[in-house]
Amino acid sequence: MVPADDPYADVEETPEADGGRTALGPLARILPPSATVEGGRLVIGDCDAVELAERFGTPLYVYDEDSLRFECRELAEAMLGGPEGSQGLFAVKAFPAVAMATIAREAGLGILCSTGGEHAVATAAGIEPERLVLHGNNKSEDELRLPVSRLVVDSFDEIDRLERLGVDVDVWVRVTPGIEVGGHEFIRTGGVDSKFGIAAAQVVEAARRLAALPNVRVRGLHAHVGSQLLVKEETGVRDVMLPLLREVAEAVGEPVREVDLGGGMGLPYTVEDPEPLSPGDTARTLLDGWPDDVALTLEPGRALVGRAGVTLHRIGTVKEIEGIRTYVAVDGGMSDNIRTPLYGARYEFFLANRADHPGSRPVRIVGKHCESGDILALEASLPEAISPGEVLVTAATGAYCFAMASNYNVVPRPAVVLCRDGEARLAVRRETVEDFLRLQAFPDGSS
Ligand SMILES: *Cc1c(COP(=O)(O)O)cnc(C)c1O
Repeated sequence: MVPADDPYADVEETPEADGGRTALGPLARILPPSATVEGGRLVIGDCDAVELAERFGTPLYVYDEDSLRFECRELAEAMLGGPEGSQGLFAVKAFPAVAMATIAREAGLGILCSTGGEHAVATAAGIEPERLVLHGNNKSEDELRLPVSRLVVDSFDEIDRLERLGVDVDVWVRVTPGIEVGGHEFIRTGGVDSKFGIAAAQVVEAARRLAALPNVRVRGLHAHVGSQLLVKEETGVRDVMLPLLREVAEAVGEPVREVDLGGGMGLPYTVEDPEPLSPGDTARTLLDGWPDDVALTLEPGRALVGRAGVTLHRIGTVKEIEGIRTYVAVDGGMSDNIRTPLYGARYEFFLANRADHPGSRPVRIVGKHCESGDILALEASLPEAISPGEVLVTAATGAYCFAMASNYNVVPRPAVVLCRDGEARLAVRRETVEDFLRLQAFPDGSS
């Protein structure tokens, strides 16, 4: 996944007595490029993970900042090779931190937002409306009026609303191309039976209606057929979208020259997962043979940020049920990573202070929430002797973990730190119980 000009290509590759990158074994592939082992301990961005857990508390989301910057720059630079107007967007929902949107902007990416809230995050990062695209299957009237470069129109009801509100905007039409691909049912979005988009057969009609509105300009088509697609060009979405674009251009009688093929580039979460193309490589592959009069947009989220992040938890309770299994409980759980309960996502786990010892003791890793489904791993392997207080690492949690965090059981949401050259900077402070109480009314009538 990491190209030859990777700035980390020279990371330690020779085994050392107590560390180096090779000490991570097969885990190295799913950890950020700066991840290494020193004295048995995991180090990211030259910051010791055990020290980070002490300094910032746990649970904690830790990112390798250079890795975030590298993946964003790779995509931005690859898109420069496309026809005029081609661009990369970061789907900010995958990691909606102002610090991350800033990194995307500095790398030359725009931002894909799906709500007014995400638009506010991007705007707080100093991103101009010219670099913002808004999509979503049920935008509010306020959202339809947000300043953006392109609005992705999702339904005929939305066309009615645009007409009624008189919104002045450049639009793409969201197409459901009728392609069933991707991982879990809940992360597929391109089939006909989807809440997203307008069926390919009705797209020309939608474009005609939009073009007839005095303040609306139809610029192109948009599709996003799902997440965790390992090789983008194999989905066939380009072969649906390019002919459809020509049809739409003919029907509206204006140049319509933009195609957004969505995000959904894959991320290996476990050591067995296949190696997908990176966003940059996906862009280069698609642009090879791409028509030179059609601007291409790609908008990955997960693949730009997933591998750069890990989560640190502290182990609190180890409960062995003789002949059945061992439960290892940590100080977070479904509040900081809902993906396993939600879609049976799988991750790799290891101890931060024994990063070179994967271990072979089968355990179930659970959180502290009042749900039996609060499970981080149905089955994982950890070292034989596990002590309360040790720091557990979950790999590849950079995407959709912070984003989907909740404060269930009034467990405050974790902090986010970005690590680079031995410096850890706080990107999002830990939520407090006071933050939670601040929204509430009290018995004395105050609030
Ligand atoms: C979620 C989403 C993305 C990003 O998906 P990833 O799987 O994170 O790359 C891109 N485009 C649209 C329309 C989305 O809904």
